[in-house]
Amino acid sequence: MEESADRGVREIRIDPIVPTDSVLVSTARNMRPRRAEEPAPRDRRDHLAACAFCTGNEAQTPPEIARLPATGPWAIRIVRNLYPVVDDAGGVAGLTFGLQHAIDGYGRHEVIIDHPHHGICLHEMAESHLATLFAAYRLRVGQLYAGDARLRYVLVFKNFGPAAGASMGHTHSQIVALPVVPKNVADELHHSRAYYEKSGHCVFCTLLDEALTFEATLYDRRSGEVVRHIHVGQYVVERGERFIAIKPFASRYEWEVHILPLDHASDFVAASDGDLADLARVVRRTMARLEAVVGGVQYNLFLHARPPGPRYTPHAASYHYHLEICPRSTIPSGFELGSGLFINTISPEAAAKRLRAVVLEGDDEPHPR
Ligand SMILES: [Zn+2]
Ligand SMILES: [Zn+2]
Ligand SMILES: [Zn+2]
Repeated sequence: MEESADRGVREIRIDPIVPTDSVLVSTARNMRPRRAEEPAPRDRRDHLAACAFCTGNEAQTPPEIARLPATGPWAIRIVRNLYPVVDDAGGVAGLTFGLQHAIDGYGRHEVIIDHPHHGICLHEMAESHLATLFAAYRLRVGQLYAGDARLRYVLVFKNFGPAAGASMGHTHSQIVALPVVPKNVADELHHSRAYYEKSGHCVFCTLLDEALTFEATLYDRRSGEVVRHIHVGQYVVERGERFIAIKPFASRYEWEVHILPLDHASDFVAASDGDLADLARVVRRTMARLEAVVGGVQYNLFLHARPPGPRYTPHAASYHYHLEICPRSTIPSGFELGSGLFINTISPEAAAKRLRAVVLEGDDEPHPR
């Protein structure tokens, strides 16, 4: 049950980055009877003799692409995916028949074994380890783009827990390199560029400026009554030196959080080690907040960044790379699939407030910095 401030929100919110996307925030729906069954629990074991990703079983994984560090016991391994969604086995390129048009499913699918410990959560990893994990993302994304001009987009993502579709209990991330820029990223690139052409400003920078400074009161034009008091700082969940975690105004998922650079940056491959160290800190603290509020959080996490190539060079001025963290608390229904409108039953303001209120170990007060 949400606090009283959250009572009665029922509105369709337009996504500020991609205005063709919207979300139905309907908090009354939170009162309906919940399904009795809980999602399958996450595997918290440390080491599993039967797990191909656990230490000692390295020979059981598909061929290794890289390991970090290069010598001594490994902290992170990158291997090929045993069941790739795309690969380089030749198909028929550009097949067209009537209305049927297909692009060859060419690409790469790799697995990053995030940590030697089987069931460890991101917030339990050392910040230095997380920084190394993000350096592994940066390394492979850069290498894949540089090594093959046919690859148009390299998507890094992580499914954590069975509720988020993880088929392996051992903590891992995945990299899928595609011959197309997928719709979600293409839409963000397109609409943020359109905003830039119209206003001369980067929409992400504008959003962050608002998140950090803006405060406004909305009045009803006829009665003069205050209908809503907006303090946009209320969306800030966590703040570092260089990165910020915010609850999107039009969050699709109850506990969805986005993490993005405070200074304008669109190319993740160009992120410095210092950037990744701060990103690691903000991610660890954000995940610890989610764990404290949600408990046993299972989520999808993915990285969106500007791809290389001349087509997207102009977007350098209008885009920010970012991580989207989408904890899975409900299963999309026919309404959501049929309408494209996600239903969120907890108002993003109330969710951000609860995440912000968590006092993390070692902190003496709840507020993010
Ligand atoms: Zn394992
Ligand atoms: Zn910007
Ligand atoms: Zn995105």
